[in-house]
Amino acid sequence: MMPTILAVEDEPAILELLKINLLDAGYEVRSAADAETAQASLKEALPDLLLLDWMLPGQSGLAFAKQLRADARTRDLPIIMVTARSEESDRIAGLEAWVADYVTKPFSPRELKARIKAVLRRRAPEAAQEPLSAGSLTLDPSTHRITVDGKSVHLGPTEFRLLRFFLARPERVHSRAQLLDQVWGDHVYIEERTVDVHIRRLRLALQPFGQDRLIETVRGSGYRLTASG
Ligand code: CA
Repeated sequence: MMPTILAVEDEPAILELLKINLLDAGYEVRSAADAETAQASLKEALPDLLLLDWMLPGQSGLAFAKQLRADARTRDLPIIMVTARSEESDRIAGLEAWVADYVTKPFSPRELKARIKAVLRRRAPEAAQEPLSAGSLTLDPSTHRITVDGKSVHLGPTEFRLLRFFLARPERVHSRAQLLDQVWGDHVYIEERTVDVHIRRLRLALQPFGQDRLIETVRGSGYRLTASG
């Protein structure tokens, strides 16, 4: 499923431009013309990212961002602020405390899409530093240690990132393309079978610990981590 973006923009022409570009990039798009409508939309369902115009009628985008940060439900919602050049002053310097990133109007669709992609990648749950576990296996992101019943498992860097990615999203199926995009990042020219190679290595490393069935192959779809395997 593609990430959903809620675009909050009061100028219809700009909103239309945003929509066209986001849909073109494959995102699900919802929109609102002001903070109040956006709030109602957020109540219904949380998007994966909020694209927020600074200058809105009524509550400003910045005030709205601050409000969302203060609410436990929306605290971690990534926000990209859209600002006009006239606002591009020392005020923007403090923006990063409230938003994940910002773009300045007029923005290039390419830049906007790149920033959205980067923010969505950063937002990934494994960015958190808490230990992740499945059954008797635990991965501690802060020390980079993986243990099974207290015994250390040694993994290469790619296998480590893969395992961390899976642990943060148990039971969900990920296609090879998704894994390449989210685990390998910008290396779009890597072939999909590279994923299979690293999955095999990961399973081999986990085998002595009886954890090689942790990552399941889902025929025709990809892979998933399942603690019951
Ligand atoms: Ca505006």
